[in-house]
Amino acid sequence: MTRRRFRYVPFTIEQDQTAEPEYDARCVSGDETECGAESGTHSGPEPVEEWQRKHTQETGHRRYRRNFGDYAVMRPPAQLAELVRADGGTA
Ligand SMILES: [Zn+2]
Repeated sequence: MTRRRFRYVPFTIEQDQTAEPEYDARCVSGDETECGAESGTHSGPEPVEEWQRKHTQETGHRRYRRNFGDYAVMRPPAQLAELVRADGGTA
């Protein structure tokens, strides 16, 4: 019986710069049923916070569920070395 052995490859994890991160919030204020108002999806946190401030001012609601999502890419060490070479390196 052969056992496959996997060599440990120290991938680095980076945010995918080609895809925008996503921020949104939903109002979860309310005793039995939550309000459910949504900020919509934005590529930064500022518009979401602005929406929250406005919603709180209009309704008095103060509790939100916030979501953040982004894409990650795994970069193997060989590719890292290539990048350094492409940059001209320092050596
Ligand atoms: Zn609300």
